[in-house]
Amino acid sequence: TYVVTEACINCKYTDCVEVCPVDCFYEGENMLVINPDECIDCGVCEPECPAEAILADTEDGLEKWIELGEKYSAEWPNI
Ligand code: SF4
Repeated sequence: TYVVTEACINCKYTDCVEVCPVDCFYEGENMLVINPDECIDCGVCEPECPAEAILADTEDGLEKWIELGEKYSAEWPNI
Protein backbone atom coordinates (compact mmCIF):
# COMPACT_ATOMS: atom_id res chain seq x y z
CA THR A 1 0.00 0.00 0.00
CA TYR A 2 0.91 3.64 -0.23
CA VAL A 3 0.56 5.76 2.90
CA VAL A 4 -0.07 9.39 3.73
CA THR A 5 2.43 10.69 6.29
CA GLU A 6 2.80 13.70 8.56
CA ALA A 7 3.59 16.22 5.83
CA CYS A 8 -0.12 16.06 4.97
CA ILE A 9 -1.19 17.42 8.35
CA ASN A 10 -2.84 20.81 7.88
CA CYS A 11 -2.04 20.65 4.18
CA LYS A 12 -4.85 18.81 2.50
CA TYR A 13 -4.13 19.45 -1.12
CA THR A 14 -6.31 17.01 -3.00
CA ASP A 15 -4.21 16.40 -6.11
CA CYS A 16 -3.75 12.80 -4.95
CA VAL A 17 -7.47 12.28 -4.61
CA GLU A 18 -8.08 13.42 -8.16
CA VAL A 19 -5.72 10.86 -9.69
CA CYS A 20 -6.49 7.79 -7.56
CA PRO A 21 -8.23 5.23 -9.79
CA VAL A 22 -9.94 3.44 -6.92
CA ASP A 23 -11.00 6.43 -4.76
CA CYS A 24 -9.33 5.12 -1.63
CA PHE A 25 -8.59 8.46 0.06
CA TYR A 26 -10.50 9.44 3.20
CA GLU A 27 -10.61 12.87 4.76
CA GLY A 28 -10.43 13.82 8.41
CA GLU A 29 -10.18 17.16 10.15
CA ASN A 30 -6.56 17.94 9.38
CA MET A 31 -5.21 15.32 6.97
CA LEU A 32 -6.08 12.65 4.42
CA VAL A 33 -5.45 8.93 4.71
CA ILE A 34 -5.30 6.02 2.27
CA ASN A 35 -7.31 2.88 3.02
CA PRO A 36 -4.60 0.20 2.80
CA ASP A 37 -7.16 -2.48 1.92
CA GLU A 38 -8.42 -0.54 -1.09
CA CYS A 39 -5.13 0.83 -2.42
CA ILE A 40 -3.97 -1.14 -5.47
CA ASP A 41 -0.36 0.09 -5.26
CA CYS A 42 -0.47 1.86 -8.60
CA GLY A 43 1.80 4.66 -7.34
CA VAL A 44 0.06 7.37 -9.35
CA CYS A 45 -0.62 9.56 -6.32
CA GLU A 46 2.93 9.71 -4.99
CA PRO A 47 4.39 12.25 -7.45
CA GLU A 48 1.18 14.31 -7.40
CA CYS A 49 1.44 15.26 -3.72
CA PRO A 50 2.80 18.83 -3.44
CA ALA A 51 3.84 18.15 0.17
CA GLU A 52 5.60 14.86 -0.67
CA ALA A 53 3.52 13.28 2.07
CA ILE A 54 2.77 10.03 0.21
CA LEU A 55 5.24 7.18 0.46
CA ALA A 56 5.29 3.52 -0.57
CA ASP A 57 5.20 1.18 2.41
CA THR A 58 8.38 -0.44 1.16
CA GLU A 59 10.19 2.23 3.17
CA ASP A 60 10.95 1.51 6.83
CA GLY A 61 9.16 3.05 9.79
CA LEU A 62 5.76 3.60 8.22
CA GLU A 63 3.79 1.11 10.32
CA LYS A 64 2.24 3.90 12.37
CA TRP A 65 0.87 5.58 9.26
CA ILE A 66 -0.48 2.36 7.82
CA GLU A 67 -2.33 1.73 11.09
CA LEU A 68 -3.71 5.27 11.02
CA GLY A 69 -4.89 4.68 7.47
CA GLU A 70 -6.72 1.53 8.54
CA LYS A 71 -8.29 3.18 11.56
CA TYR A 72 -9.34 6.46 10.02
CA SER A 73 -10.56 5.16 6.69
CA ALA A 74 -13.13 3.21 8.69
CA GLU A 75 -14.25 6.38 10.49
CA TRP A 76 -13.79 9.21 8.03
CA PRO A 77 -15.69 10.00 4.82
CA ASN A 78 -14.43 8.88 1.44
CA ILE A 79 -13.22 11.84 -0.61
FE1 SF4 B 1 -4.78 5.33 -5.07
FE2 SF4 B 1 -2.80 4.27 -6.53
FE3 SF4 B 1 -2.25 6.07 -4.62
FE4 SF4 B 1 -3.06 3.61 -3.93
S1 SF4 B 1 -1.15 4.14 -4.97
S2 SF4 B 1 -3.78 5.55 -3.05
S3 SF4 B 1 -4.52 3.17 -5.59
S4 SF4 B 1 -3.43 6.44 -6.50
